[in-house]
Amino acid sequence: MRPVRVRFAPSPTGALHIGGVRTALYNFLLARKHGGTMILRIEDTDQARYVEGAEEYILESLKWVGIAIDEGVGTGGPHAPYRQSERKEIYQKYALQLVNEGKAYYAFDTEEELQAMRTRLKEEASGIQQYGATTRMSMRNSLTLSAGEVAEKINRGEPYVIRLKVPAEQVVEVTDLIRGHVSVHSSQIDDKVLMKSDGMPTYHLANVVDDYLMQISHVIRGEEWLPSAPLHVLLYQSFGWQQAMPQFAHLPLLLKPDGNGKLSKRDADQMGFPIFPLNWKDPHTQELAKGFCESGYLPEALLNFLALLGWNPGTEQELFSLPQLIDAFSIERISKAGAKFDIQKAQWFNQQYLRTKTEKELCRYLYASLGELGIDCEEEKAEKICRAMRERITFPNDIFANGKFFFYAPNTFDEQVVQKKWNDEAVAVLAAYRDELNKSATITAEKAKLVLDGVCTGLNTSVGKVLQALRLAITGQGSGPDLMLTIEILEPKEAAARLDFAIQNIRAKK
Ligand code: GLU
Repeated sequence: MRPVRVRFAPSPTGALHIGGVRTALYNFLLARKHGGTMILRIEDTDQARYVEGAEEYILESLKWVGIAIDEGVGTGGPHAPYRQSERKEIYQKYALQLVNEGKAYYAFDTEEELQAMRTRLKEEASGIQQYGATTRMSMRNSLTLSAGEVAEKINRGEPYVIRLKVPAEQVVEVTDLIRGHVSVHSSQIDDKVLMKSDGMPTYHLANVVDDYLMQISHVIRGEEWLPSAPLHVLLYQSFGWQQAMPQFAHLPLLLKPDGNGKLSKRDADQMGFPIFPLNWKDPHTQELAKGFCESGYLPEALLNFLALLGWNPGTEQELFSLPQLIDAFSIERISKAGAKFDIQKAQWFNQQYLRTKTEKELCRYLYASLGELGIDCEEEKAEKICRAMRERITFPNDIFANGKFFFYAPNTFDEQVVQKKWNDEAVAVLAAYRDELNKSATITAEKAKLVLDGVCTGLNTSVGKVLQALRLAITGQGSGPDLMLTIEILEPKEAAARLDFAIQNIRAKK
C-alpha cells in the first residue's frame, strides 16, 4: 500500500459545519490508523465567497476537537504553501501544459454569448445544455480562432478562461471505496473552466493538481462532491497521472433528525442545537451562532458521536476513546446511506464522558459556574457536590444548574409532589428528624440514614413513605441526587432549618 496521505480541504467561506468536522475526523482516523499524514489545505480560490476569519475558525475548531494536523496551513510542510491562493503560478503552469498538449483551450466568450448559446440549445431542445464537444466549435475560443487572433486577444488583455477539452466519446470510470463503481459517458461532462478570467484556478483544477503534487493517497470528502469525481478522473488522465490517482471515498450526508433531507443550520437553529464546533459571529449579519464547545459538549464526546455518524464498528460498542477509534476505523465500514443527526445521542455521549471525569475536573466546571455568580464554596463541599451530581448531568454547567439547592434553600416547592406526598404522617417524621439533625454540627450520609430510620421506626412508619416529602423539603424538588449525601453536604443544621421552613410554609398553604 502506498503511504497514506489524506487531506482535509475546506473552503474558508464561513464557519466550519459539523459535517466538515466529521470529514476531517475520518481523514484523521485513516491517517493515524496507517501511520500516515493528515494535511490541512485551505481552498480559497473563490474570492467572491471568501469570508474573513473563517480560516482561523477552522484551525481553532480542529484544535478544540483534537484533530491534529501533520502538514498544512498553520503547520507547514514539504509541499508549502498549503493555501491555494498562494499557489496561483502552479495552477497556471499546469493549465498551460494542458493547452500546449491540446487538452485544454482558451475561451473568450462573453457572458452574453454564453447565455445566447444556452438559449439556442434550449430552443433546439437537443438535450445538450453545455459547452462541450458538440458546441465548442461554434464558440469563440482557441479551437475556432486562428493562432494569431488568439495571441492578439491575449496580448490586448481581453478576458479569457481556460477550458478542459473533454473527449467526445469516452466512458469515464470512477471507483469509490464507499459507493463502488460508477461509469459516466464523457458527453455528460461539459468543458469545465479550469482557469478563471481573474487568473485563479477553479476548484476542480486546483484540487486535482494539489492532490497530485501533495501525493494524496485517499480523497475522503462529502457526498456533494461525488458528481465532480468523473471530471477529476478525466483531469488525472489528461495530465497522465493515472498511476498517482488517489482513491475516492465520498461520505454519506448528515440528515435532519427525522431523516428527511440534509441537515442545515436553519434546522439546527429551529431545533435548538448547535451546528458549528465553536461560537461563530457572522461577519456580514453579526448574528452569533452558539458552538458545541460553548454549549457544553466535550470534544471527546463530540468526536465519538461524529465517528458513529456514518461509520460503524460492526459490533455493539458505542464508547470509543480516540486510540480505540483509530484502531477500529476502516473505510469499508462507512455506509452509503445518510446518517440521521440525533442530538439526543450527542447528549448521551456527553453524559457518558462526563461520568468518566475525576472529581477534580468536575470541580473545575462547578467553580466556573460559581465564579460567574461570585459564590464561594469550600473544596471539600465542591467535591462532594460533584460526586452527588456526576450521574445527573448532561453538560458541565448542569452541576450547578441542577444542584442550585446546594447553595440556595428552596422557597418554592414542586406542587405535584406537595399534593401527592405532603401529609400529616410525613410532617410528623420531618419534625422529629429536624429535631434530631439539630443536635449535631456535622453528619455523614450513613449516619443521616440511620437517624432517619430510627425516627421512622419510632413513629411506626417507613422511610419509603416519607422520603419524597423529605426531598421536597430539602431541595424543593421531587427528584435529585442521593438525599442522605445531600444532607451530609448541607450539614445537619442547614437541613434542619430547611425542614422547619417547609413545615411552616407548606402547612400554611394547605
Ligand atoms: N474545498 C472543498 C470543500 O469546501 C473540498 C472538497 C474536496 O475535499 O475535494 O468542501
